[in-house]
Amino acid sequence: MKQPKIQIPVHFHLVADLLMVKREVAMTPWLTPEQLAKTVLPEVNRIWSVAQIEWKLSGVSPATTRSEGRAEVTAYVLNAVRDSEGHSDPERVKKLLSLFALEKNDPKVAVNVYVVPYLGGTSQGHALPGRKLVLLGQWTDKPSRGKRPPEKCLLIENGPFRQGSFSRTVAHELGHVLGLKHPEPGAPPFHRLMGGNDPGNDLTDDEKNTARKTTAVLFGSPTRA
Ligand SMILES: [Zn+2]
Repeated sequence: MKQPKIQIPVHFHLVADLLMVKREVAMTPWLTPEQLAKTVLPEVNRIWSVAQIEWKLSGVSPATTRSEGRAEVTAYVLNAVRDSEGHSDPERVKKLLSLFALEKNDPKVAVNVYVVPYLGGTSQGHALPGRKLVLLGQWTDKPSRGKRPPEKCLLIENGPFRQGSFSRTVAHELGHVLGLKHPEPGAPPFHRLMGGNDPGNDLTDDEKNTARKTTAVLFGSPTRA
């Protein structure tokens, strides 16, 4: 029997006032509300359709940052690197979040996604599941593992996973919000949205069930279509 479709509201905040320059690349914000609505969200929903979960755009807002601490946070994020075990620096997420008026969001209503120019140190996205918050960068140096200057993320990637795309990162981080974790390195099956060796866009049956159960917990009785 086919499970009923669950809809989850998601609100995007496009941060426009963080000037970030790395290796002479001025990472100006380029992602538009039209690209989010017409390209990114359909791709995220294509990936999540196997779980009968549909992300519904509740809004796209321009977001501004507090001027207090902005220069210090920007410099910190630009210089953030992964540690010797490959973990990204959690401080940069805390610092970035301190610049936003998060108290204006009602986490009961939607998952809030903040899109900044760059997240630092080959990182493209970060989720805070408990707060229903996601941070995303629209410029990346992950494909080159930081060896080359940052470049614009691909909006979508046709065909199998090669370097990943902004849309896949959105789908991955939303997976964390719905309680999904990274698989153990080397553990099959492969081609998974949540990572592991040889990543891709797939969700396992366990992940689909966990995501649906978490949705019920996070949003009470979810909207059904
Ligand atoms: Zn992850």
